[in-house]
Amino acid sequence: MPYSLAERILVTGGSGFLGSHLCERLLANGAEVLCVDNFFTGTRSNVEHLLDHHRFELLRHDVTFPLYVEVDQIYNLACPASPVHYQHDPVQTTKTSVIGAINMLGLAKRLRVKILQASTSEIYGDPTTHPQTEEYWGNVNPIGPRSCYDEGKRCAETLFFDYRRQHGMPIKVARIFNTYGPRMHPNDGRVVSNFIVQALRGNDITIYGDGLQSRAFCYVDDLIDGLVRLMQSPDEVTGPLNLGNPHEMTMRELAELTIELTGSRSKIVHRPLPQDDPRQRQPDISRANALLGWTPQTPLRQGLARTIAYFEGMLTESEGRVSH
Ligand code: NAD
Ligand code: UDP
Ligand code: UDP
Repeated sequence: MPYSLAERILVTGGSGFLGSHLCERLLANGAEVLCVDNFFTGTRSNVEHLLDHHRFELLRHDVTFPLYVEVDQIYNLACPASPVHYQHDPVQTTKTSVIGAINMLGLAKRLRVKILQASTSEIYGDPTTHPQTEEYWGNVNPIGPRSCYDEGKRCAETLFFDYRRQHGMPIKVARIFNTYGPRMHPNDGRVVSNFIVQALRGNDITIYGDGLQSRAFCYVDDLIDGLVRLMQSPDEVTGPLNLGNPHEMTMRELAELTIELTGSRSKIVHRPLPQDDPRQRQPDISRANALLGWTPQTPLRQGLARTIAYFEGMLTESEGRVSH
């Protein structure tokens, strides 16, 4: 959907994996984009191709500090998302989710503009219902190694709904399920990037635990489409809305598919399962489907093939550099 030229959109975490794709999409739709990022897990290279765009601006800033800018809409994505990254400095992770949400809500309140929160399926914890609907309140350990992320995101959701109740603000909350695609960080420990990089290098593919735990993976373009549709939906559609691809599979199946698509000779090995690792996860997306007319379009094989092509390019370039 095209934007009027005056539409200025803030994307926090805009140089991360999802944020960089979102910035691209919003520019393509005709908006002006202000990308705010402290480069904790995101990189300038993710948005380098946008730097010359006359409607794009990049600002280095940490959302745990107040931000005074003038915009028409806010997408709040700033937060490390992979377990390796968010557990690196767990206190900062909670601060980013909670204080970052307060600051961005304060900004949205002053400007009287719509604000969308990138929440997560992790707020369901290790779910006791399957698939997960938005009514489910979750099964989260409040004091474990994943809690900084899970509880931080839960508190951010609370803040969004309290700002709506207390100040009548237009808010949107998306609960994003596992998403993959080009510009995932190669070393962030997430399963799709780990398996692809291991397969391309001919290294062992590391399945944690027995590999029978399940996840459902959404291709990044589909996810971005869902976020933009949610932002553009009528004010009464606040969410929380699950956004993800319901196609569920085990980590063993994912490992085998990755080996097949890369033509790799890598062997599968098993490593210990991390603490509090959810056993199964699959979104029920009937609400997003009914309210936004949204369903993911990209089959896993196609999305994985594009992601493999991205990592092939990246590894060739970086390994080429090393050998010079
Ligand atoms: P990412 O780590 O690639 O991107 C996060 C971005 O936020 C990075 O660019 C990072 O530098 C920035 N950031 C972190 N702390 C910040 C701070 N204090 N101030 C400013 N910028 C900060 O992760 P992603 O996968 O792109 O995730 C984006 C958002 O979507 C996150 O909020 C994450 O919780 C949510 N999400 C992602 C997934 C997924 O599968 N990728 C699933 C559920 C939710
Ligand atoms: N804030 C901001 N930019 C603004 C307005 C507010 O970063 O344009 C921050 C500010 O630091 C404040 C927070 O948002 O602490 C919450 O703002 P709110 O108005 O809700 O509360 P208060 O100012 O009363 O703390
Ligand atoms: N996983 C795995 N091997 C890896 C990385 C992850 O088997 O090299 C497993 C992990 O234990 C989890 C699933 O893959 O069960 C998804 O992990 P990821 O960190 O990508 O996402 P999350 O656990 O946050 O859903």
